[in-house]
Amino acid sequence: MGVVPEGDTVWRSCQQLNHALGGQELTRSEFRVPTLATTDLAGVGVREVVSRGKHQLFRFTNGFTLHTHFRMEGTWRIYARERAWSGGPDFQIRAVLGTAEVNAVGYRLPVVELLPTVEEDTVVGHLGPDLLGPDWDLDEALRRITSDPERTIGEALLDQRNLAGMGTFYRSELLFLQGVHPRTPVSGLPGLARLVLRGRQLLLANRWRTEQTTTGDLRAGRRTYVFERPQQPCRRCGTAIRTEEFGPLGQERRSYWCPSCQPAR
Ligand SMILES: [Zn+2]
Repeated sequence: MGVVPEGDTVWRSCQQLNHALGGQELTRSEFRVPTLATTDLAGVGVREVVSRGKHQLFRFTNGFTLHTHFRMEGTWRIYARERAWSGGPDFQIRAVLGTAEVNAVGYRLPVVELLPTVEEDTVVGHLGPDLLGPDWDLDEALRRITSDPERTIGEALLDQRNLAGMGTFYRSELLFLQGVHPRTPVSGLPGLARLVLRGRQLLLANRWRTEQTTTGDLRAGRRTYVFERPQQPCRRCGTAIRTEEFGPLGQERRSYWCPSCQPAR
């Protein structure tokens, strides 16, 4: 299955980073991005590490926040001080935060920036309610999704300004579970609140897992109903799963659905 990190993966990563770094003083820092090449955070304390949708925020005692994002293939790995780093070749390392106990190593991060903590809104303020955040707000999520009634539910679910944390994996699986065709306009959709809550449940159920499943089956090749199963028989009705890319120009994303279980309306 795809490894593009969605909100639950980012949430779990930040929980682990917070456990390892929160309340600790950095003994070293290294940023392998031009804008931060000379930045040194040694001696600075880590207040906490939190997720906001698919974004990671490292808040420091000096009033600054390190903002990172995984996009397609980024990751943070945590290693005991004496352990070798194994997250990829050295040239893929973008950031290192070390304490007396551990090194947190950020690989393939397309976004690495430092900003005043009071200005975090400039990078995450546009996000809708976080499906796994303390600020979760169903009414606000529904208000945002329905503000563009002609838009397809498939596009609305991926828009992080509506819901923070959902990606293509949960989008496809959720719409299958609810029997909704991905191109259904938001306005023609009964049970939108139920659908959004079900999506949140999927992320909640998977947030501590390294491998996501929506079928409840953890075996390889059985973890999804439709995602990345083009032309394979639907697990419920046997119909061949369809796939298509759609979305705003330049931001088309692949969706999967069963034409029988998710008929177009
Ligand atoms: Zn089916």
